[in-house]
Amino acid sequence: MNIHEYQAKEILRSYGIPIPRGRAAFTEAQVERAAREMGGRCVVKAQIYAGGRGKAGGVRLTGSADEALQAAKELFGRRLVTPQTGPEGLVVRRLLVEEAVEIAREFYLSITLDRQSSRYCMIASAEGGMEIEALAEKSPEKIHIVTIDPLVGLRPYQARKTALSLGMTGKLCEECVTLMMNLYRCCLEKDCSLVEVNPLVVTGSDWLMAMDAKINFDDNALFRHPEYQEMTDFSQIDPLEITAGEFDLSYIKLKGNIGCMVNGAGLAMATLDMLSEYGGSPANFLDVGGGAAKDRVAAAFKIILGDPDVKGVFVNIFGGIMRCDVIAEGIIAAASEVDCALPIVVRMDGTLVDEGKRLLLESTLNVLFTHDLAEGVENIVRMVQG
Ligand code: ADP
Ligand code: MG
Repeated sequence: MNIHEYQAKEILRSYGIPIPRGRAAFTEAQVERAAREMGGRCVVKAQIYAGGRGKAGGVRLTGSADEALQAAKELFGRRLVTPQTGPEGLVVRRLLVEEAVEIAREFYLSITLDRQSSRYCMIASAEGGMEIEALAEKSPEKIHIVTIDPLVGLRPYQARKTALSLGMTGKLCEECVTLMMNLYRCCLEKDCSLVEVNPLVVTGSDWLMAMDAKINFDDNALFRHPEYQEMTDFSQIDPLEITAGEFDLSYIKLKGNIGCMVNGAGLAMATLDMLSEYGGSPANFLDVGGGAAKDRVAAAFKIILGDPDVKGVFVNIFGGIMRCDVIAEGIIAAASEVDCALPIVVRMDGTLVDEGKRLLLESTLNVLFTHDLAEGVENIVRMVQG
């Protein structure tokens, strides 16, 4: 789960990590008022669920409240396209108005889950501000990584060694050790899969400050934090993904035109591979899960049909716990509600497959039924291309 920079900074502040004075604003008037409070000289920052805003014109330095108002007029409602948003971009509905800080040096600092070692790791670099992915490619030796033992946690000596390798000494180094320890505590207690401060800065008066903040919460731990629920900004999420979340479906939009409904993540991955192998292009990943009921199947099918890019649907179901007749009933219910004329290829096998097949073939849908995966894939690719 994603949150905005201003929300992430609030959390960092509650862990004693210094952040610039700032205020979230939802209207132009709020921006102007906040800028006036800041004394005019401030930074107006677009709040979207993506980074790379600076280069895309989403971070504006302004010299007066009038200039801040002007920036707000330009940014509110604008679709910001950054390397992290994809070509469709994200619409700006909230701004963060912050005091403009004099920056002497910029660093990169994050804690994230390393799936290889199944541990948190801390990543730091003296080359802050720029994209860490680009730096990792160009000069990996400039990135310092510490793997954290979950039993003993981040140790001060590890933090100190990292701070020293960033070129910090004396009081600044000790300040950085404290900041890193606090960042780790935040990561653990808030169940984050990522806490990223890019840039962490040394100010003109030699203070450390988190100038940007990105936090991702681990979705598997959300049940422990009911308070996170109201932090979500639904304007930043694809409406189809919101519906999928309500029905507890794993849905991810992709770039192609063949909608896919599959049960089981492994089978779904294999299905996407097969479609690509046969020259097709999947419009989504969708796992309806193990024992879905009819209404959940119907919701899944409607999500697929709700995507205007979809030109045909491929259903690939292995009926184990899942019953093929339930899948068929769900598809028929959904398709009758939204008046679906698209070609549908259904590859089904397993529990009550004959009943499922009969229901589909007796319906008014444009359905081709098959037991064979390769045959099914070949057919849907041909139908969509033809
Ligand atoms: P993004 O990572 O999305 O581009 P950042 O919050 O990192 O956005 O801002 C981009 C750059 O703008 C930072 O690297 C920093 O140099 C500058 N910046 C951001 N906030 C401030 C601020 N409050 N005062 C001065 N400079 C800032
Ligand atoms: Mg940044």
